[in-house]
Order: sequence, then C-alpha cells, then structure tokens
Amino acid sequence: GLTGRLQNVFSKLRGKGKVSEEDVNEAMREVRLALLEADVNFKVVKDFVAKVKEKAVGKEVMESFTPGMVIIDIVNKELTELMGGTQAKLAKANKPPTVIMMAGLQGAGKTTTSGKLAKLLQKNNHRPLLVAGDIYRPAAIKQLQILGEQIKVPVFSLGDKVSPVEIAKQALQQAKDDNHDYVIIDTAGRLHIDEELMEELKQIHAEVKPDEVLLVVDAMTGQDAVNVADSFNKQLELTGVVLTKLDGDTRGGAALSVKAVTGCPIKFAALGEKIDALEPFHPERMASRILGMGDMLSLIEKAQANIDADKAKEMERKMRNAEFTFDDFLEQMDQVKKLGPLDQILDMLPGMNKAKGMKDLKVDDKQMGRVEAIVHSMTKQEKAQPEIINHNRRKRIAAGSGTSLTEVNRLIKQFDEMRRMMKQFSGMMGGMGGGGKGK
Ligand code: GDP
Ligand code: MG
Repeated sequence: GLTGRLQNVFSKLRGKGKVSEEDVNEAMREVRLALLEADVNFKVVKDFVAKVKEKAVGKEVMESFTPGMVIIDIVNKELTELMGGTQAKLAKANKPPTVIMMAGLQGAGKTTTSGKLAKLLQKNNHRPLLVAGDIYRPAAIKQLQILGEQIKVPVFSLGDKVSPVEIAKQALQQAKDDNHDYVIIDTAGRLHIDEELMEELKQIHAEVKPDEVLLVVDAMTGQDAVNVADSFNKQLELTGVVLTKLDGDTRGGAALSVKAVTGCPIKFAALGEKIDALEPFHPERMASRILGMGDMLSLIEKAQANIDADKAKEMERKMRNAEFTFDDFLEQMDQVKKLGPLDQILDMLPGMNKAKGMKDLKVDDKQMGRVEAIVHSMTKQEKAQPEIINHNRRKRIAAGSGTSLTEVNRLIKQFDEMRRMMKQFSGMMGGMGGGGKGK
C-alpha cells in the first residue's frame, strides 16, 4: 500500500548521512509513483511533489544531520496541508437549530453517517433530530428509525407519500417546537448523479437553508469519490465532506485529493459500520497514518506529558550553542528514561533504530549504571568541556570508574552521537509538537 511504498522511499534516504539533489529527485519520483498508484489525482500529485521538492533541496535540509528525517517532516507537513491543514469544525447556526443536510450517492453511507453524527452530537450534550428524507429506497425510513432507537434520538418521518421538501420543512418546525439544537436530514441517493436527484436536493436546500451540506463519499471508490465530490460541489454549495469506509482497504487517494480538487474540507471520517465509528477528520493524523507515523505522534504526546518543558527548552538552547555537557547528558538520560524503555522509544521513531550510530546506543539499566560511574569519575572541568578528555584522561577515568578504556571511548563517542541525535530529536519535537497536539 501507500504507506509501505513511502516508507521504502524514506528508508533509503534515512540511511544517508548526506543527501544530494539527485537523491531528493529520485525520492520524489518514487513518492510521485506511490501517490499515483494510490489513486491520487494526478494534478494534485504534481503540485504536491513540486512543493516538497522546493523545500527539500534547501541548504538547511541537505546539511542537517539526518536529512531523511527532515524530508519526511516536510512530506508530513505538506500532506497535512493538502488535506486542509487543521480540523474543519462542524458549522453552528447563530440561532438554533443548526441544520445539516446529507448528500451523496446511493450506498455511500448517508443514512449510517446520519445516525453516527447524531450519536456524536448527543455525546457532546446536544439534542439532535434525525429526519427521514429518503422516501424512495425501500426500508430507508426503517433503517434510520432503527438507528434512532439504538441511540435514543427521535426520528422525524412523514412516511413515503409526502415529498422530501415538505418533510424537511415540517421537520424544521418540529425541531424548533421541541428545542432540538441540531437537525440532520438524511436524503436519497442514486447510483449516478442525475438531474432529478440534484433538483430535489436543491429544493430541500432552498427550503431549509442548511448551515451545513455534508457530502458523504465512499473512500474506497478512490478517484471516483473525488469526481463525485467535484460534481456535487458544482451544483450544490457543499460545506464539507464525510469520507466513509476508511476502515476498508482504501488506497488513500480520495482523502488526499478531495480537499485539493473541490476546496471543500473533509470534516469527518467514518471507520466502520458501528454507530460510534465516526470521528472528526484530523488532517495531521491522517498524514501520519499514511506515512506510518502513528507511533511517532504517540511518542510526542508522551514526551509532552512527561518532559519538563522548561528543562527541555534549556537543553535545546544548550545543544544549539554547543554547551551540552556530561552533566546534561546524565540529566537528559533521566528524562528519556521517563518515557519508557529506551529500546521501545527508539522503535517508535521511524527508522531511528536503523539510524547512523544508533545501534551502539542500546542502553539498558545495567549499562546505564556503568555510564553513570564513568561520568562521575570525570572532573568538573571534563564534564563541562568534554573536548579536553584526551587519551590519558580517558585511562584515568576508566580506572577510577572500574570500567575499561574501550567503554570510556565508546561513551564519549556515544555522547557526541547523542549530542547530535538529541539536537535532531528536539528539533523534531519542536517542529511537530504543534501538529501532534490537535485534540
Ligand atoms: P446510503 O445509501 O448512502 O444511505 O448508505 P448506507 O448508510 O445505507 O450505507 C451503505 C452500506 O455501507 C451499509 O451496509 C453500511 O453499513 C456501510 N457503511 C457505511 N459507512 C461505513 C463505514 O465507514 N465503513 C464500513 N465498513 N461500512 C460502512
Ligand atoms: Mg440511505
């Protein structure tokens, strides 16, 4: 799938200490193919690749310690932007009720999503009213009523003999009378977009003037979903898109193209048939999912919860100014230990375990003790200015700490690696923390 393809591209980049423009070009060629294969609109792909390339061949990236990681970060941010950047909120009427009209092709998931949305609103202490506006499909009314019963949300219906426009109109009145703050109008769909369907939707629209017109599209249909969204959007002022069936084996193309092609934000994602399988769509989370970086986000969340922000800032400043000392090293280790076993943390960082030098940086608790002994055998000056620790000093430190010269050498080398690694790490935390925090 897309995630695997992209991870392949990036693992090639990651191994490199230096990245040339040609490396970037090659990676971008592969990203381009991966996106096309995932059924992303070709124009969207073209723009996307151009944007990433422009940023990735910058001087700073090429000269950074792990250019691959920086490029992944750029791709992640651009993917997020592509899908709208931030989470697009559901509209809210100045004067309740807020009217939400559902639209979409038959089988896209309108009725199911109506129920899910009602449930979500109810959970947030709202009082939604569901409206059975599909009078054509046999059992459509019943389907909505069953959903309503399940979540204890009333369903307004006038059977299948009254026009959907009239149903919508009366439902709105009912909602006002009964103090509902949200009205969700389920509508009929066809197999294909046709005049009749559009005409009816336009009439309902004119009658109830919805605050929100949500187009429900089946993510599994890929490029077709985007074409459908484009057609609907040209005839009906859509305010948002709901992507359904993201739980299935989708290629991701719809999620990546819809916003770029229609200008319409994805507001919700449906990830299953169950009534609670609907969630607000978070572009940055979707981007991370596509890049296979879900664990990375959870690590960042963990770090944000556990690491003392002031201390971290101070460390970062020190590292930037090359003031990082062995005392800081010990303290930094303590901070990292709070996140959990180091092996696990490294596993969570994509490719980090394979990154240069990291294979030596396996620190278990026993080794940690020896490391501490070595550092404690250093003089104050040595801790503060590690660069003065020459061969003779290393021998003295080894003897003093009851370790070997090899171990001391290794630690000092690791310290240098760690200095650079942590600089990279804190840079990533700083750069990605804002995106990962969205709740
Ligand atoms: P409508 O014709 O647009 O009203 O579509 P329905 O709400 O009746 O849904 C059509 C089918 O898709 C039903 O079998 C639903 O259970 C299923 N469905 C809807 N949303 C999802 C989803 O997010 N994931 C999966 N796997 N199935 C879904
Ligand atoms: Mg339906």
